[in-house]
Amino acid sequence: MKKRVYIVYTGGTIGMTATADGYAPVSGFLERQMADMRELTHRSMPEYTIHEYSPLLDSSNMTPAEWLLIAADIRDHYDEFDGFVVLHGTDTMAYTSSALAFMLDGLRKPVVVTGSQIPLCEVRSDARENLITSLIIAAEHAVPEVCLFFGAKLLRGCRAKKVHADGFDAFDSPNYPPLGIAGIDIDIQERFVRLPSSRPLEVAAMAQPVVGALRLFPGISGEVTRNMLQPPLQGLVLEAYGVGNGPENNPGFLEALTDAVDRGVVIVDCTQCLRGTVDLTDYATGSALARTGVVSGYDMTAEAALAKLHYLFAIGLDPGEVRNQMQRDLRGELTLPE
Ligand code: ASP
Repeated sequence: MKKRVYIVYTGGTIGMTATADGYAPVSGFLERQMADMRELTHRSMPEYTIHEYSPLLDSSNMTPAEWLLIAADIRDHYDEFDGFVVLHGTDTMAYTSSALAFMLDGLRKPVVVTGSQIPLCEVRSDARENLITSLIIAAEHAVPEVCLFFGAKLLRGCRAKKVHADGFDAFDSPNYPPLGIAGIDIDIQERFVRLPSSRPLEVAAMAQPVVGALRLFPGISGEVTRNMLQPPLQGLVLEAYGVGNGPENNPGFLEALTDAVDRGVVIVDCTQCLRGTVDLTDYATGSALARTGVVSGYDMTAEAALAKLHYLFAIGLDPGEVRNQMQRDLRGELTLPE
């Protein structure tokens, strides 16, 4: 029996065509292109069904409402298919792959998020390779987690980051090894892959919380920080310097953080660096932040931290429980210190 893959087509460059305004997605275009690809009917390829979303979106236009739509779509077709491929724009792909990792609780089948830098219809496109290999991985390989496949690398979805604006090697997971590499063979690194969940798949009903992100910069004022933290904000990813440091000589800034934490805002300290982990005990500038009540995001990407904050508030946890869960490893998104 041929394996069956469900393709969720959300938009992005992969399916775009040239229009008078530049590249844009056009309904039905990608499916027609794929129908003309003889390699997709090869006996080594799975059968697939495409669900094209309307409207097709450039991923810069996506919101958490679309994350939930995709998660619910996968849940609704979960039993009928062996694996899932999500075709998505690259700009916010790492946010969506992080969010899906949290939302699809109890996953036992592969969900592979992919896209391309050049549309499938173009001669020099990277879409063909990304699409074909993602379909094979979703159908044939034992990776029961949300992954992101791009430029020959299979990455954990909640560890991935867009690291190149125009290269074919656009994604990396700087703090976690690739789950696989597609060379002559598709080599899955089993020791890095999560075990299948023992629970049934569930996508919780979700509220729409208000979370945000603030990247520290030299000279940030207490006023800017306080404005950012105003109600109705519930959670903030604070992208701090190095191992999680910020200005300890800036009382306005520190007071704005303390006041927000006292009101129940959950502030998660992540690093602006590409690699490495937050440690708020290393420097006085880190301890000053810790004293305001911010919690460590350890080595989480800012994308995963934002998606996780959103998810935890969306499922209705109170701020105390969100704080706890932010500091625990839920889906392989962070490494706790030994
Ligand atoms: N702007 C596009 C998007 O994210 C870029 C891409 O798909 O590569 O939808």
